[in-house]
Amino acid sequence: MSDKNYFDYAATTPLREEVRAAMEPFLLSEFGNPSSIHVWGQKAENAVERSRDIVARYINADPSEIIFTSCGSESNNLALRGIGLARKFNHGANQLVTTKVEHHAISRTVTQLDKFFGFIAQWARVEPNGAVNLESFANLTNENTAIASIMAANNEIGTISPIQQLAEICSEKGVPFHTDAVQAAGYLPLDVQKTPVTAISLGSHKFYGPKGVGALYLRKGTMIVPNQTGGGQEHCLRAGTHNVPYIVGFAKAIELLSTERQSRVERVVDLRDRLIKGILATIPYTKLTGDPVDRLPNHASFVFKNVDGNLLLGMLDQAGYACSSGSACKTGNPEPSEVLVEIGLEREWSLGSLRLTLGESTTETMVNDLIQILPTLVSKNRQLRGK
Ligand SMILES: *Cc1c(COP(=O)(O)O)cnc(C)c1O
Repeated sequence: MSDKNYFDYAATTPLREEVRAAMEPFLLSEFGNPSSIHVWGQKAENAVERSRDIVARYINADPSEIIFTSCGSESNNLALRGIGLARKFNHGANQLVTTKVEHHAISRTVTQLDKFFGFIAQWARVEPNGAVNLESFANLTNENTAIASIMAANNEIGTISPIQQLAEICSEKGVPFHTDAVQAAGYLPLDVQKTPVTAISLGSHKFYGPKGVGALYLRKGTMIVPNQTGGGQEHCLRAGTHNVPYIVGFAKAIELLSTERQSRVERVVDLRDRLIKGILATIPYTKLTGDPVDRLPNHASFVFKNVDGNLLLGMLDQAGYACSSGSACKTGNPEPSEVLVEIGLEREWSLGSLRLTLGESTTETMVNDLIQILPTLVSKNRQLRGK
């Protein structure tokens, strides 16, 4: 399978060769359990602690503030449930502040905490560009807030959030602030010395690391109840034998990212703009979704009026293009994405969404070819629907 026309880097990325090479010894000869006393254990433990240092350094944190998890979703769950429960137990704070444009690992967790665990979900207003309304956010956060959580960048529509301002609003009120930076981390800088954020979720497979490993940054002194109890791993906050090769791979991916981040941004940002301009210019009844300026440098997302988005994805796939609608919406599910509904798009628009995300294999030729082919596919799609 060729990745020649892969336009779905926001869903996942391939593993970099350097990452695979770094992981390999820990899948084979260096197989020890980091909790064991003997030399196998020591080697594995050293590898985990070296990895922790690398991840911490990337966001200017202390290594003791990094908790390794199994994925970005788990990091989100640990932050919301863990900090939420601790704040409820210690202070009686039971309100959760977030928005309806978050990844499901946030929004569905908040919904469940509301339904079954005695919390109250509070959904801050969202602007048409997908950014949280700051006034609405500030009005909802107070001493009864257990935790507030706003994503650093939106996976579906690319909008970047004003994390600095949001973190400061919460910090002034003594409210824990978490950000889901799983999509943002590959392109945006994060510095926990500059930004008074309480917790940050990271995952490695959105920036050329392995799937199935993530981390939660947790500011020193934050009260948290572990989600998974058992052994004493990860400062007793996340039980379970470490996935050593994946943790090592995650750190290698971060190491590459820290030297290449700027060049990765420069590599994709002009291609993204070419794609956006080309598509808006050639396809009638098209809107860019998300913010036109404050958006991820590799992210272009659209809605086409009166188009069947799933059918369009199938047509693109047949033509050799791997794309996404950006939502969890699978074939056969005619419901529009909650994110597109929340930013105010009507059904005739929101059902025709397309997300094109760029990465290391994307070339100008690929982008030009896609701009060439897409108008025909959209128009065929509209004809099939009788529009
Ligand atoms: C991909 C993604 C997640 C989930 O990460 P996994 O490692 O796949 O669990 C969470 N939030 C955002 C914004 C994402 O893009």
